[in-house]
Order: sequence, then C-alpha cells, then structure tokens
Amino acid sequence: MNLQSGTYYWPTTMPSPPSYQTLSEDVTCDVLVIGGGTSGAQCAYYLADRNLNVVVVEKGTIGHGSTATNTALIQYSGERMFTDLIHSFGEEYVGRHLDLCRQAINEIENAQTKCPSPFEFTRRNSLNFASYAEDVERLKQEAILLKKHGFPLDLFSEKDIAERYPFEKRAAIYSYDDGELNPFKFTHSLLEYAAKKGIQIFENTEVNGMDFQNNQVQVRTKTGNLIHAKKVIIAAGYEGTDIKKEKNSVFVSTYTVTTKPVQDFSTWFERSLIWETARPYVFIRTTADDRVIIGGLDETTFYPEVRDSKLINKRDRLVKEFNKLFPSIQVEPDYYSAAFYGGTHDGLPIIGEYPDYPNCFFLFGFGDNGTVYSMILAKLIADKLSAQPHPGFELYEQSRPVKALS
Ligand SMILES: Cc1cc2nc3c(=O)[nH]c(=O)nc-3n(C[C@H](O)[C@H](O)[C@H](O)COP(=O)(O)OP(=O)(O)OC[C@H]3O[C@@H](n4cnc5c(N)ncnc54)[C@H](O)[C@@H]3O)c2cc1C
Repeated sequence: MNLQSGTYYWPTTMPSPPSYQTLSEDVTCDVLVIGGGTSGAQCAYYLADRNLNVVVVEKGTIGHGSTATNTALIQYSGERMFTDLIHSFGEEYVGRHLDLCRQAINEIENAQTKCPSPFEFTRRNSLNFASYAEDVERLKQEAILLKKHGFPLDLFSEKDIAERYPFEKRAAIYSYDDGELNPFKFTHSLLEYAAKKGIQIFENTEVNGMDFQNNQVQVRTKTGNLIHAKKVIIAAGYEGTDIKKEKNSVFVSTYTVTTKPVQDFSTWFERSLIWETARPYVFIRTTADDRVIIGGLDETTFYPEVRDSKLINKRDRLVKEFNKLFPSIQVEPDYYSAAFYGGTHDGLPIIGEYPDYPNCFFLFGFGDNGTVYSMILAKLIADKLSAQPHPGFELYEQSRPVKALS
C-alpha cells in the first residue's frame, strides 16, 4: 500500500534513533510480531514482561509507516459518537469499550514512567465543538452518556466558549484527561524497553510468506530466512489488509500540516486539543516545541495519485481553517503530508483471527483513536498469549456482526 507522501515532522525530533540489525539467520520464537510501528511496539511492550521469547520484524525502519504521520491526539472520544455506537452494540458493550479506552490512556501515561526515554506524553483537555446548530442536541446527549459512565467533562455554552477562545460556537463538550504525545518517540521508547527485556528486534526484514503447520507458523523473510513462531501478531498497520482483506475496514485520504514554532498561545485556552462535529472535520493540537498541528479535510478517494494531487490545496485550506479559529496566531507550514487513514464500518477496531491464518492475530487498531485502540488490542492479545485472557477480547473480535452506521 502506498501509505503516504509529503514531509514528516516527528522523525526530525529524533535525529539519531536507535537502529536494529537485519535478520540474517533462521530463528525460533514463541511470538513473532510483524511491524515496527506504534502497534508492533505496543505489543512488544506488553509481551516484554510475560516470560515469552519474542521477535519483532520491521520491513523498513522503525516508525516510518503511518506512525510518522500520526497527529497523536490521545482521546477516548472518536468520530463515531458513543450515542451512535450504542445503536449498533448496546450500552453495556459500549460502556465496556469506554472503560478500556480510559485504561489504555492511563497505561500510555504509565508507560512514560516505565520506559527509558520520555515521549512527550502530556495530559490535555479536549474541546469538541458543535459545527452546526443541529449538532448541539447530539453533543448534549453524548455528554449525558459520558458523564453517566464516569468521564469528567463540562458542557460549554456559547458564553463559556467565548470567554475562553477567540471564536464563537454554540456549544461544546470540554472533556478532561485526554492527552497528546510524540508517536515516533513513543514507538522507539516502547521498543527500547522491550529490547532491554530481551526481545529481539530486526529492521529491514520484510515478511513475504507464511506456511501454517500443526502448532506453529513458518514465516519467510525477503532476506531468505525462516522464523519458526508458535504465534504471530500481524501489527502491520493499514498494510495488514494487504496480507488479509478485512471486510469491516474502510480507507479515506487525510491531510496534515505541522507549522513552524509559534511565539504566543495566550488566546488558546489550556492548549486544549480541538475538534468538531462536522464531517469531514478539522482538528488541531500543539507540540512540545510550540508548533501547531492541523489535520483533517478527509477525502473519500483511495487512489494515491488523486490523494497526493490535492496536498498543496489541502495544506492551504487547513491553514485557513485554523485562522478562522485563531486569527491572531500567524502560522507558517513547515511539514505537510497526505496519507491514507483506515477506519471500520462499525466504528470499533478489530482483532482478526481467521481460519486461513491459524495461530495468527491481526491487530487492526483502525479508527481516529488508533493509538489508544492499538494499546487496548496489544494488551488483550498479550493477555491471551500468556494464558490470562481478558473478557474485553470479545468486544473486538473480527467475527462480531458488522452493522454499518449511516
Ligand atoms: C494522518 C493520520 C493522522 C492520525 N491521527 C491520529 C490521532 O490523532 N490519534 C490517534 O490515536 N491515531 C491517529 N491516527 C492513527 C494512527 O496513526 C495509527 O493508528 C497508528 O499510527 C498505526 O500504527 P501501526 O503501527 O499500526 O501502523 P504503521 O505505523 O504503519 O506500522 C506498521 C509497520 O509494519 C511494517 N510492515 C508492513 N508490512 C510488513 C511486512 N510484510 N513485514 C515486515 N514489516 C511490515 C511497516 O513498514 C510499518 O512500519 C492517524 C493516522 C493518520 C494516517
């Protein structure tokens, strides 16, 4: 899959990242993780303390897939409102999903204290404003549901918003305890932790075939080596669907601008994460070195050349959208990219176990909160592999009925 094009800010924040050798001999392991992006690193992080012999392989270098374009807003609310998800799954199901999202964000925060290098995780509050008058009631219902499930938030009125921001919106949910991070540093830091615990990591090692035997998978690499694994986790991001098509997945094109550092954020209340109810939406955050990241303006196209042809126009429109909100903050684009972004028809991420891939788990942490979702799925898969299955696993099984929401 041609994942993305453009220029990427996150890798520049770590000019000399750790590097790992290429696999040059056959190996045997309990668990093989395919993919050295955030999801593979999250798997390695959780498997590191389980007394298992684990190998991670990455076809390129660590963190240069979707991880490099991830805007890394760390939130529990996503593009599907929970009030909508309830229509498909019921409230008990959605409540369990919400709890796992909350735990995953706490675990990301906790990882920063356990891992060797900080990854700029900071708690941030989120403003989700009503883009249109008809969205106000939906936001109110969403706020009631989230409060019922114990999420701290305020429903801001027009006056509340005007007192805090230089723009006018009719209403917004202001939720506490979300976050932001640097996904490139996050990925490297989790892998450094795993490597210190004995997990073997190989870069420039592409998997190009699998043979299924009774109690193991024999995995072939492009370098001509074999990996004999009892279990395999395919954490290959959106490219996981190149290995196994998943009918619940859906792809769009999306755009991101990272600006040069900004001098003054005094008009930006608490440097909150900001997004909206419009679809497609625009979202913004700041970075540890005072840049602004502006993302969104999704397009339904899945042709890379069509996606990329719109990049300059989208870059300029994203800046305009930002200045509609913050007219006094002058921003200059420094990095900008076009990328495919994967979601699911029914709004939840997927753990794929398929009869034609025995002993394999596909980690499809798809959705706008992909980092949080992958944290949940990585832990659930690690629990299952270390014989401590968690009841949450069933929420994300690929075999759940697909009910596409309109
Ligand atoms: C523009 C954009 C903005 C986003 N914003 C957010 C956000 O604000 N918050 C959020 O939570 N999520 C966000 N996401 C989602 C988030 O980026 C993804 O969930 C996450 O980066 C996916 O990480 P990954 O490790 O699954 O995929 P990747 O980073 O793509 O990693 C997969 C790795 O697998 C490797 N690989 C593939 N095939 C093979 C093979 N055969 N052999 C060996 N290695 C292989 C690839 O080289 C790659 O490095 C965003 C996504 C995009 C595109």
